[in-house]
Amino acid sequence: MAKSSSCACGESLNTLIYDPELCINCGLCSSVCPHGVFTEGDGKAVLSKYEECMECGACQINCPVGAIHVESGVGCAAAMIRAALLRRNEVTCGDAACCGPIK
Ligand code: SF4
Ligand code: SF4
Repeated sequence: MAKSSSCACGESLNTLIYDPELCINCGLCSSVCPHGVFTEGDGKAVLSKYEECMECGACQINCPVGAIHVESGVGCAAAMIRAALLRRNEVTCGDAACCGPIK
């Protein structure tokens, strides 16, 4: 059900939780997500780019069955921003005083 990942600094990368058992495959989450975190699947939405979630909350607001939960601004914001900018599964904020520089 839930998927979790942490930045190397120990903060949760983001707070996104998806319960596919509740999904009715309406497609709204994949339509509204600005980062393609959800994609349409065969019968259920697929959480395909978990690390790129920016916790905007659009998917949660639009999901008609409460299959998605996310808390804004709780995860490691720096790591999420780097993941979005670099378009890769970045799991560090890159702060030398925290996670160390990005290689
Ligand atoms: S919270 Fe925003 S960025 Fe994250 S999966 Fe939902 S719509 Fe996408
Ligand atoms: S918005 Fe909710 S019900 Fe619709 S596809 Fe996404 S997770 Fe499933």
